Amino acid sequence: MKLSIVIPAKNEAENILPLYKEIVEVLRNFKGGYELIFVSDGSRDLTWAKIKELHAQDARVHGIQFGVNFGKAAALQAGFDMAEGEIVIQMDADLQDDPAEIPKFIKKLDEGYDMVVGWKHKRLDSFVKNKTSKLFNGATNIISGVKLHDHNCGYKAYRAEVVKSLHLYGELHRYIAVLAGSSGYSVGEMPVNHRVRNSGKSKYGPMRFIHGFLDLLTVLFITKFRTRPLHLFGYLGITSFISGFLIGIYLTYIKFIGHQSIGDRPLLLFSVMLMIMGVQIGVTGLVGEQITTLVQKNEKSYVIKNTL
Ligand code: UDP
Ligand code: MG
Repeated sequence: MKLSIVIPAKNEAENILPLYKEIVEVLRNFKGGYELIFVSDGSRDLTWAKIKELHAQDARVHGIQFGVNFGKAAALQAGFDMAEGEIVIQMDADLQDDPAEIPKFIKKLDEGYDMVVGWKHKRLDSFVKNKTSKLFNGATNIISGVKLHDHNCGYKAYRAEVVKSLHLYGELHRYIAVLAGSSGYSVGEMPVNHRVRNSGKSKYGPMRFIHGFLDLLTVLFITKFRTRPLHLFGYLGITSFISGFLIGIYLTYIKFIGHQSIGDRPLLLFSVMLMIMGVQIGVTGLVGEQITTLVQKNEKSYVIKNTL
């Protein structure tokens, strides 16, 4: 099998059939075989029924149903785990991504990239969303070193080994390029046609920005410090501890050499606090982060209810 298309869908019932038709039309002369994997992410509408209908008519259509909403990252991960194609493409189910771009993505991969990220250069979303997205991409570029215009574009193409190397959970779908880049895969980008959402609702409210920022910290951590958490927490902890220790030495000095009493000085408390905090930060940070990485490695981020 040459191509797998993974489509996460939460309450997108009206969009499933039109999207399917468009994709099939675009791939009419596609050589090498392809499959479509729709992932219903805890949909409460007829999304799963629509997917089942398509599966009954067309053996190339597969489906994964989550009984609850595990989030887009988990939906993509489930689709990626099932995908059998040499090339894997992810696209949104809401018809905002134009299926006509699929052959272009494949061409772009053939130029030698391991992964190609779409870039909605003429973005048809709200003003606030467009502006915050700029800010967010700028920050991600600086922090991660993987430079793209549109990290969170829902339209991306991969060589299979890239998606098989991923472990997505939470809202890490926003940072797949950063994760892949940090594993040594080459990441390219390509302008894509972006369309207005006609049916269904956008799933992300204003909280997306706060979550996005927190997830950026996670990504920074797992890409830069995963194998050496001490470099981050240890540094902070040691700075705190040494500051406290130096103040302690100063106080000891004025007690024994200067013969002043230090028992009632706030500075004493401060010194002790800094030293205890230093130890706390170092040890807690280290242990906590190692536990999360271990747990995340061994645990799937989703539970499947049905597959087709
Ligand atoms: N989606 C999903 N699970 C979620 C949220 C969204 O599978 O918890 C899907 C959604 O159905 C759509 C895609 O992810 O196919 C992108 O979502 P949306 O269009 O709401 O995001 P936006 O375009 O507003 O960034
Ligand atoms: Mg959308």
